[in-house]
Amino acid sequence: MSATPAFLPFTKPTVDEETISAVADVLRSGWLTSGPRVKEFEAQLSEYFGGRPVRTFNSGTCTMEIALRIAGIGEGDEVITTPNSWVATANVVIETGATPVFVDIDPKTHNIDLNKLEAAITPRTKAIIPVHMCGLPCDMDQLYALAQKHQLRVVEDAAQAIGSTWKGKRIGAFGDFASFSFQVNKNIMTGEGGCLVLNNEEEAKLAEKYRLQGVVRSGLDGIDVEVLGGKYNMTDIAAAIGLGQMKRLEEFNQKRAALARHYFTCFGQQFDADTGAELPVADFENSNWHMFHVVLPERVERASFMQKMLDRGIGLGYHYRAIHLFSLYRQRGFTEGMFPVAERIGKQIVTLPLFPSMTENDVERVVAEVKSCLSSF
Ligand SMILES: *Cc1c(COP(=O)(O)O)cnc(C)c1O
Repeated sequence: MSATPAFLPFTKPTVDEETISAVADVLRSGWLTSGPRVKEFEAQLSEYFGGRPVRTFNSGTCTMEIALRIAGIGEGDEVITTPNSWVATANVVIETGATPVFVDIDPKTHNIDLNKLEAAITPRTKAIIPVHMCGLPCDMDQLYALAQKHQLRVVEDAAQAIGSTWKGKRIGAFGDFASFSFQVNKNIMTGEGGCLVLNNEEEAKLAEKYRLQGVVRSGLDGIDVEVLGGKYNMTDIAAAIGLGQMKRLEEFNQKRAALARHYFTCFGQQFDADTGAELPVADFENSNWHMFHVVLPERVERASFMQKMLDRGIGLGYHYRAIHLFSLYRQRGFTEGMFPVAERIGKQIVTLPLFPSMTENDVERVVAEVKSCLSSF
């Protein structure tokens, strides 16, 4: 009998010894909060995004809220977004006092259905928050054509999309605001954190105010508070992790893509037809393969499928439950049936293990267990 294989989580960060030493150096330096490492990380990110201004924050949630504030969005405004995302994407709209408006998703890409978006635009619509789900970009030509036609700001929720591209250009290197997350599950991470790519220095200055209590300093003791800001700055500890991760971003993303390719090979061409499940769009040009999803057929109850996989030592995720069906959103008038695609995906989707330190053997093990578990339903 072979030993029970080790537990395989759906994701796990890769942290090298060099990064651990860099963090230790920060801890020994006497300067732990925002300082030289944050400046260096922001400079590297700005270079990565084609020289656009970039500011870092302590989450990928506040980045979006701050982008909305910079765009002047608040009470009385509507912001269009997707019901298929982490709840932060819609919560930030409510946080500004504006109203979230949902548009259903495309059943294949799981991104907001841009063909349905125009019908949701009203005279109050001020912005769109599209999500590049799993790192698969939205159709950027169609998105920005719509935004331009209706004079709407765009806050790209690119939390999952660092290293993704559109027609050879990096997500974040063009367009309006782009918000990235460095939460520990993302392709690169800082423990918790995020960054916002902005359009000009004026917006960057405003982002700095919103990031730290609205404070503006001058001279040795000059201080004023001009706008209501929060406490959203990144620490040098986190930035040191980010600098170590940036060095490996290309390598991490290449490894993810290679593992994703192996998933498709192992599942085989007939998998969808044979089982009624749905594999993701096999995009090896634009996606950074942040996650690998399978939509389970309706006959399969997700929780019992997840339990069976867990019993075999494999952890799965589900990204995401439809936002509009959470109590907070039902209280705002949303109900079942409004966005049927997002509702079905929200109930039936599972996230398979995919992270850079995984092996091809791990992929083969996951595929064998998925097939075996599916056949029991
Ligand atoms: C992770 C994530 C967020 C939130 O980022 P945090 O850094 O956890 O605040 C928002 N939207 C999407 C799509 C995400 O994946």
